[in-house]
Amino acid sequence: MAPLSVAEARCKVLQEVAPTPAELIAVEAAHGRVLADGLVARLTQPPFDASAMDGYAVRSADLRSLPTTLELIGEAAAGHPFGGTLGPGQAVRIFTGAPVPAGSDAIVIQEDAERDGGKVRVRNGDLDRTHIRPRGLDFSAGAPLLAGGRRLGPRDVSLAAAMGYGQLSVRRRPRLALVSTGDELVAPGQTPGRAQIVSSNHLGVAAMAEAAGADVAFLGIARDLPESLAAHFEKAGDADVLVTIGGASVGDHDLVAPVLTAQGMALSFWKIAMRPGKPLMFGRLRQTRILGLPGNPVSALVCARLFLVPLLRALLGLSLDGDAAQIKARSAVALEANGAREHYMRATARHGNDGLALVTPVRSQDSSLLSPLAEADCLLVRPVGAPAVPAGGLVPILPLDF
Ligand code: AMP
Ligand code: MG
Repeated sequence: MAPLSVAEARCKVLQEVAPTPAELIAVEAAHGRVLADGLVARLTQPPFDASAMDGYAVRSADLRSLPTTLELIGEAAAGHPFGGTLGPGQAVRIFTGAPVPAGSDAIVIQEDAERDGGKVRVRNGDLDRTHIRPRGLDFSAGAPLLAGGRRLGPRDVSLAAAMGYGQLSVRRRPRLALVSTGDELVAPGQTPGRAQIVSSNHLGVAAMAEAAGADVAFLGIARDLPESLAAHFEKAGDADVLVTIGGASVGDHDLVAPVLTAQGMALSFWKIAMRPGKPLMFGRLRQTRILGLPGNPVSALVCARLFLVPLLRALLGLSLDGDAAQIKARSAVALEANGAREHYMRATARHGNDGLALVTPVRSQDSSLLSPLAEADCLLVRPVGAPAVPAGGLVPILPLDF
């Protein structure tokens, strides 16, 4: 199979992806979840004309000449309305959030009045402002306020609760099964023996997938043996996505694709014209989409960002607009012409004089190196066949938001 371009591969990964089914959850647990349907307000907010200040509820007609003295007939506090009606010459002590009593049409703030036993003396009355929040000032029942397909942020969960929702219909989190492969790998925290290294990639991939909204199950480290790989892959069950790490190239020990194919996977592609990350595999087994990431740490994480995150977004019914958006920046250094593979160079950005970011590739672009990846804050993208760029020339970048 000839290597696909990154854009073609992305299209194949996103082909025919339907959003996961909706499920009902408590609004308390809804932060970060994606609304399945749009929400209309069930309540009106505020539900009554409410005082915006601590002071005295009055009739504005009584304040035509100041100072004046009014009769105090009661009190209204938040949650404790005044039951009666104000007549001429009367006032009610009122606090922020309390319903404005019947008969009153303005609040005199307490700084403008003085209490004297059963009376209140009003010195000033700022009648330009009534200090009343009218019923429905924020929203009225029936108002469509939160669109379907929106990921609920902190402000949205507050709004949904205020709109009267105790439960929300959201997309089920995509179920992601993750397998590391390799005879050389030990679990994080273990001391590697001779010829061994720590499996580190799965942690970064899992973190990225969780941040994107997935429910991640790590199925462990499979050995480079068909039986071990097959047993681990079977544990994926009915996952929406199975992600494998390593073993995806064409060496003698790269058995991921053959084992999955034997299990019935329809292979979509196995190589893409990209640096880092040439041996990227994608296929499908029943409803499970399978992404085989390369083992090199930078390749694994960059490919997860470019292919797995959009796949998870599509499964959540989120818009993909802007996902591949590439901001223009200036390269701080001259760059060679690029070859036949789209190159995602690790780089750091700083503010340039003209407002565009000025980006500098990190010291080494070796795809096995995690420390320069952690140091980088963006990927400088070199399209296929891009000509050389002089220092200061324009380049597209993708922020490393993981
Ligand atoms: P592979 O794709 O299996 O040939 O692996 C390519 C390189 O990535 C090898 O040097 C592996 O040791 C390394 N590697 C594979 N999987 C992981 C992992 N989970 N964590 C860290 N390094 C890995
Ligand atoms: Mg391997």
